[in-house]
Amino acid sequence: MAVLLQRPHAAVACLLLYFLSSGLSIPDPRQREALIQLEASMQTGGQMVLTDAEQRLDTLLLKRKLEEMDRAQFPPAMHFFKARDLIRTSPIFNLLQKMPKGGALHVHDFAMVDVEWIVKNVTYRPHCYMCYTDSQSIRFIFSSRWPKALPHCSSWTLLENLRAKMMNTTDFDNSIMGNMTLFTDQDPEAVYPSQDVIWDVFEQVFLALWGLVTYAPVFRDYYYQGLTQFYLDNVMYLELRALLPEIYELDGSYHDRAWTLKTYQEVTRRFTADHPDFFGARIIFTIHRGVNATVMERTVEEAMALQRDFPDIMAGFDTVGREDKGRPLWYFRDALSLPAGRGVNLPFFFHAGETDLEGTEVDQNLLDALLLNTSRIGHGFALLRHPVAKELSRKRGVALEVCPISNQVLKLVNDLRNHPAAALMTEGHPLVISSDDPALFGASGLSYDFYEAFVGFGGIRSHLGSLKELAINSIKYSSLTPVLQEKALALWQRRWEKFVSENAF
Ligand SMILES: [Zn+2]
Repeated sequence: MAVLLQRPHAAVACLLLYFLSSGLSIPDPRQREALIQLEASMQTGGQMVLTDAEQRLDTLLLKRKLEEMDRAQFPPAMHFFKARDLIRTSPIFNLLQKMPKGGALHVHDFAMVDVEWIVKNVTYRPHCYMCYTDSQSIRFIFSSRWPKALPHCSSWTLLENLRAKMMNTTDFDNSIMGNMTLFTDQDPEAVYPSQDVIWDVFEQVFLALWGLVTYAPVFRDYYYQGLTQFYLDNVMYLELRALLPEIYELDGSYHDRAWTLKTYQEVTRRFTADHPDFFGARIIFTIHRGVNATVMERTVEEAMALQRDFPDIMAGFDTVGREDKGRPLWYFRDALSLPAGRGVNLPFFFHAGETDLEGTEVDQNLLDALLLNTSRIGHGFALLRHPVAKELSRKRGVALEVCPISNQVLKLVNDLRNHPAAALMTEGHPLVISSDDPALFGASGLSYDFYEAFVGFGGIRSHLGSLKELAINSIKYSSLTPVLQEKALALWQRRWEKFVSENAF
């Protein structure tokens, strides 16, 4: 009975099934309709009451979605690299771009801005040097003097000098771009035949970007540009996972982590002052899961100090890097229990369950994240295989940050109709949609991932109410205080009403 009380939908379904099985041999169409309605009411957005204008827009969306499914090539069934151009021509995508999507709660610091901006606006700055590594990747540094050689890298070349000797820099610039993203025009299955291959390239891309984006003037401009790209995609709030690296100046001097966090705060304030309908951004401090227990302990101490000193901008803490190859959360249990042990508030936002290695130590990360009181779960791709974790996440309102394109590109799922979030959405599990590393996947902002969610694993069943609930979820499950959530929701609501009135015919 306790179970029935907690799950009213399940209770009604049980009663209906009882009457069905005890009734006539031919099913009653009214009971069938009741069951269909019951399921529809359980899905994400199933309880949402739509206004007349919203209903008109919903009818239009359904018509468009049916047309989309009739296309010879259905984008969510294809690899995103092949589907991107098709998606760009989709009227649904066009609407989703205009739609106020609320917040992006799972985005990484150096994967916000498209590579073209980096090549055109960063590598053309003076004092920019480049070298080629043994494995044919590239590294950069800005320096007022000739920089010291890096191990396993060719000697440095000053890009100004190199480009001055070229008749045409387009091919060269394109080759730099190719080193800064996973996106390719070639067959992605052939270029990235396994998870190992794509994760290796993924980490090389981050290293290629590193020397550019950790240079102080670029760091500020890059973040401002990142906010701009999300803002232009009608995202009003961001929670950014950031490594908070030491940032360097042209003379080779370095700033510490507190400086980096403070700079994020200053740039966020400047951006919000320039764009009053942008709500803001908060930082989730991250560390690579490859570190040992001692480094983790030191980092958690630092995180607690930063949380105390910068409570407005700092949202909490997380670990990053490939879960399958990194250390599991359980290995770090002592360090990660420090804040709770001292009664210090350091919210966690753990990546967990970004794996298909069922039953391994890494696969326990989902339960361990919940044991460690995580506020949200990054990805949670494996959640369906953990019924206890799933129930805990639902009961405690620990939302999953679902990043469809990331999961597909990093080879956890091919056809996005088969993404585990399909099942989670049918039962209204707490979740938000996010984009993880959009620049690395050749995407931008949040609209591409919303498209995959809405047209792909949302199926015909998901509707405007689902989109509305997903957007509201991104505020409800954010790290903002209740007062700020209310403020953000009011701002979002105004933008939503404008969007509906401009697009409902
Ligand atoms: Zn991530």
